[in-house]
Amino acid sequence: MKKALALILALCMIFAVCACSKSEKKLTMGTGGEAGTYYAFGGVLGSYISKEADVSVNVVSSGGSAANITGIVADNIYDLATVQSDVMTYAYNGTNSFADKGAMSDFRVLCGLYAETVQIVTCNPDIKSVADLAGKNVCVGDVGSGTFFNTVDILAAYDLTIDDLNPVYQSFGDSTESLKDGKIDAAVITAGAPTTAVVDLATSNSVYLISIDDEHMSKLLADCPWYAAYTIPAGTYNGFNSDAVTVTVKATLVCRASLDDDTAYKIVSTILDNADEIAKLHAKGEELSLEFATDGIAVPFASGAARYFAEKGITVATAP
Ligand code: GLU
Repeated sequence: MKKALALILALCMIFAVCACSKSEKKLTMGTGGEAGTYYAFGGVLGSYISKEADVSVNVVSSGGSAANITGIVADNIYDLATVQSDVMTYAYNGTNSFADKGAMSDFRVLCGLYAETVQIVTCNPDIKSVADLAGKNVCVGDVGSGTFFNTVDILAAYDLTIDDLNPVYQSFGDSTESLKDGKIDAAVITAGAPTTAVVDLATSNSVYLISIDDEHMSKLLADCPWYAAYTIPAGTYNGFNSDAVTVTVKATLVCRASLDDDTAYKIVSTILDNADEIAKLHAKGEELSLEFATDGIAVPFASGAARYFAEKGITVATAP
């Protein structure tokens, strides 16, 4: 009987070893809503990394930047995530929108990915300025989004607060459905443009992007220097034939602070060494570069990522 038991145990162990024989690391990546760019581009990165490196990445949808950082640092449900550069800096330092929660600094940067534009979208041609949003039903992103924080900053440049609007909290996909149904007047969407949800909206409705005028842009950039002015070119969305002036932040790939160096190195090298291949799978891949990956990032890098950049002659800051 004892021998039989020992045999069964031995077989179980052999089976367990075989099952993990690829010594594959399994990681979960938090992204954004399904009609956003994080989810689509995150999906491309996840499957590329899973194919090329010995790491399996499960990409999941989420509420966005703030939810992703909480998911890594507090809830321990994500190993990797896409987040806005502004929101991650607030979280790391416990400032601005994270002042109440306190610092959440148990995460590190792997690399900057692409520019995210703050797009203020409406189907109502009478809404021409941010000031016209006062008193209107406006989607300010999903619960846990980074979009919410951008809305607050832009409103402040116009001496408005969130209480001057009727704020609605929805994913990009739901907000563009609400625009179609006339349930909301405008939606703020911080994402790489063209964004799937807006592309879809523009196939059935006339879409207008509201610009930030010069005077308020100067105030916004003076108060919040982490933004950069950006022009969304005419024609980005079907039927919208003028330029829209707005601001950008940087979509950034982050990981939990405890991710081992070799895995961090492997992920960053797989992405940046294969940027051309990744660009064939998703247009945002065209923005991948060593410079964009490292420039203007105010949160420490994972040391495995820093090792990769050092090999390319770029020094980035790691945690003390
Ligand atoms: N940057 C957005 C946010 O954190 C999400 C963008 C996206 O889903 O593409 O609110």
